[in-house]
Amino acid sequence: MLQSHIYIPTLKETPADAEVISHKLLLRSGMIRKVTSGIYTYLPLGLRALEKISRIVREEMNAAGAQEILMPMVQPGDLWQESGRWEHYGKELLRFKDRHDRHYCLGPTHEEVVTALVRDEIRSYRQLPLNLYQIQTKFRDEIRPRFGLMRGREFIMKDAYSFDRDEAGADASYQAMYDAYTRIFTRLGVRFRAVAADTGSIGGSFSHEFMVLAETGEDTLAVCRRCAYAANVEKAEVRLPAPTAPQAAGAPVAAVSTPGMRTVEEVAGYVGVAPHQVLKTVLVDADGSLVAVLVRGDREVNLVKVKNHLGATVVDLAVPEAVERATGAPLGFAGPVGLRGVPIYADQELMHGTDYVCGANVADTHLQHVDLLRDVALTGVADLRSITADDPCPACGGGVDLVRGIEVGHVFKLGTKYSEALHATFLDETGRERPLIMGCYGIGVSRVLAACIEQHHDAAGMILPPAVAPFEVHILPVSVREQASLEMAEALHDALNQEGIDTLLDDRDERPGVKFAEADLLGAPMQVIVGSKGLARGVVEVKDRRTGERRELPAETANAAFLAWRAEVLEGWCASLR
Ligand code: ATP
Ligand code: MG
Repeated sequence: MLQSHIYIPTLKETPADAEVISHKLLLRSGMIRKVTSGIYTYLPLGLRALEKISRIVREEMNAAGAQEILMPMVQPGDLWQESGRWEHYGKELLRFKDRHDRHYCLGPTHEEVVTALVRDEIRSYRQLPLNLYQIQTKFRDEIRPRFGLMRGREFIMKDAYSFDRDEAGADASYQAMYDAYTRIFTRLGVRFRAVAADTGSIGGSFSHEFMVLAETGEDTLAVCRRCAYAANVEKAEVRLPAPTAPQAAGAPVAAVSTPGMRTVEEVAGYVGVAPHQVLKTVLVDADGSLVAVLVRGDREVNLVKVKNHLGATVVDLAVPEAVERATGAPLGFAGPVGLRGVPIYADQELMHGTDYVCGANVADTHLQHVDLLRDVALTGVADLRSITADDPCPACGGGVDLVRGIEVGHVFKLGTKYSEALHATFLDETGRERPLIMGCYGIGVSRVLAACIEQHHDAAGMILPPAVAPFEVHILPVSVREQASLEMAEALHDALNQEGIDTLLDDRDERPGVKFAEADLLGAPMQVIVGSKGLARGVVEVKDRRTGERRELPAETANAAFLAWRAEVLEGWCASLR
């Protein structure tokens, strides 16, 4: 492809509203443009990259026995009523009516549509197993669309749905998808980790998220340093050492004046205790009811664990007004002693200690010497906090590291939740009617592109993995006014494209400095620089964008020499990901 023939509107300045590097670079390299919040147009380079990702996804899905279909983006509300999600999905579901006043939504996911399809088509166990997938635009009215393609409102997803006759079949379908995902992310050229994920109300251990490891990831993963354990912090269990003998209650509860002291650190410092001796009292809104959750002052409440423990659908921090109403005190002074009308749950770890300091539900006042068993009407005790780097691995007791990740894929064993709700059944060998056992499997195709950039970039721009780069090779004649350089560049360009290697030739009459800087920004993994000085010595120069390493290749045998060097560059990429 000639660069003069492809629209690549690069930007010199970084747009002000882009926070993360992938968003900045996608805009600067002319791959995407914003239409409105969380909604983007993909320009030629961006679309090429998305198509490369999609192709690898398709090849591996097909190889795993899944079949591609394409379902509508607009879905009837009736189906969502049937599954029960019309009420429960919340505001991410964009709903609207047609001219006949019938309810519709834009598909955020397709369990309803695919289950309704299969219920009308599948009659017998002989037609199973079945795995259907699509690559399609999804819409989720995210509360905080941000970070460009990382969290859009409209985005591209590959979603697959498997249907099986029994548990063993469903487990095999799940494993086939897990393996396909492992191949997909390996081929794409990202460092990733599959981690055990929260399964919410469905339960069971059959959910894994595929995480691209990157500092800017929104998720935190707990990864064991010794064994294979890896889990999303949302899910990672906290295993405590055996409890020490119960401590006797000490001194009676006493109020202490703490003027303006609201945070754990302020209170601990002022009263003269360690932060872990302070009780953090967090009020949450669980499906519209207030619940108090207690954790040690140096710990964080895990809202996913709270939600699962309560069996709730939506759990979030309570709004300040609700907290003040429930406690009768300003924010920062909530505490469990004498807190009426609110169920109180304590994190299990608190039962290992006593003599706590907590808010008194009175302005500028805390309580000292609080014993949870003696002084608080506890509703329950459970694992309600997030794992920390000081906790042991829940599987082997070794140490864990906390690392950041970007969720690019999710495999999930659904069981019969949707098939029962939508009456999608089949007749088994004995002629008995049974619900289909389902799995669902997503990959955020457009988020994958952002994740690649988050993981692979430097100060000069993107360093795209060869499989994802819109062009694998970027040929840069130092000056297109030098006939010999241009001819050499064209010959190599034609030869590489013939080989099936996507190659871009910068045929624009631009200053060399501008071209080199743009090439680094666009991030093709391999660059070839052709100039009259090198040609006079019989060489062309190549640059590995990832390592920055430059080398001279003989101009006379440039094609063969390039292919040999390319093999080395690709091997270097693989080695760097291991
Ligand atoms: P998240 O926790 O990031 O909101 P999710 O659990 O809602 O993700 P799934 O419903 O499992 O995501 O969707 C499958 C995949 O689609 C995710 O693994 C992710 O890669 C991608 N995805 C989800 N939401 C978005 C979004 N708003 N923008 C881009 N990609 C997304
Ligand atoms: Mg989401």
